[in-house]
Amino acid sequence: MARYTDAVCKLCRREGEKLFLKGQRCMTSKCSFERRGYPPGQHGKNRRFKVSNYGIQLREKQKIRRTYGLLERQFRNYFKKAEKEKGITGENLIKMLERRLDNVIYRLGFAPSRNAARQLVRHRHFMVNDRVIDIPSYLVLPGDQIKVRDKSRKLEVIHTSIRRAMDAKPYSWLELDKANLTGIFQEIPDREKIPLSAQEQIVVELYSK
Ligand code: SF4
Repeated sequence: MARYTDAVCKLCRREGEKLFLKGQRCMTSKCSFERRGYPPGQHGKNRRFKVSNYGIQLREKQKIRRTYGLLERQFRNYFKKAEKEKGITGENLIKMLERRLDNVIYRLGFAPSRNAARQLVRHRHFMVNDRVIDIPSYLVLPGDQIKVRDKSRKLEVIHTSIRRAMDAKPYSWLELDKANLTGIFQEIPDREKIPLSAQEQIVVELYSK
């Protein structure tokens, strides 16, 4: 499957904010954005121009897409599904992305980044409701139980990540049982609870042209 393979820190610098794509490194002084908080490229530092309306819409879309680690076509498909659902399309879109299994595993603290979570899922380290799921885009439902498989309970990457996550404030829609390496996705969170700075309504405007 196609995937983004270039340096991910460039993406934060392009979007002008930290997207937290590299796990623990994002919290340290090694973070590229902390050191070079201007757009990548030879002229990134000196680039000054007025951003068009289209440019603003594009940046918001890219910010969301890159935060959740999606390719363009995948993102479009989520948008089409969000449009068909009842309610506000932009909010539907973000709520749907939050339900992705790789995202839930990252938010529970089982992985240091969504990228790492995706790899762990593909390597069959997790179960949802006692069934092994190896599809990172699997959409969890309220009440679903996400569990580290018995054979994977000793994985250092999971334990290191959990230890670090213990310092962070837990998300109100998730319940974590650290001792049993199990989490529950209790409910689909309201948009205002989801920590994402992008304005999804602008993305709706972009795709409604
Ligand atoms: Fe972004 Fe993390 Fe890289 Fe910093 S270290 S630029 S937050 S991916």
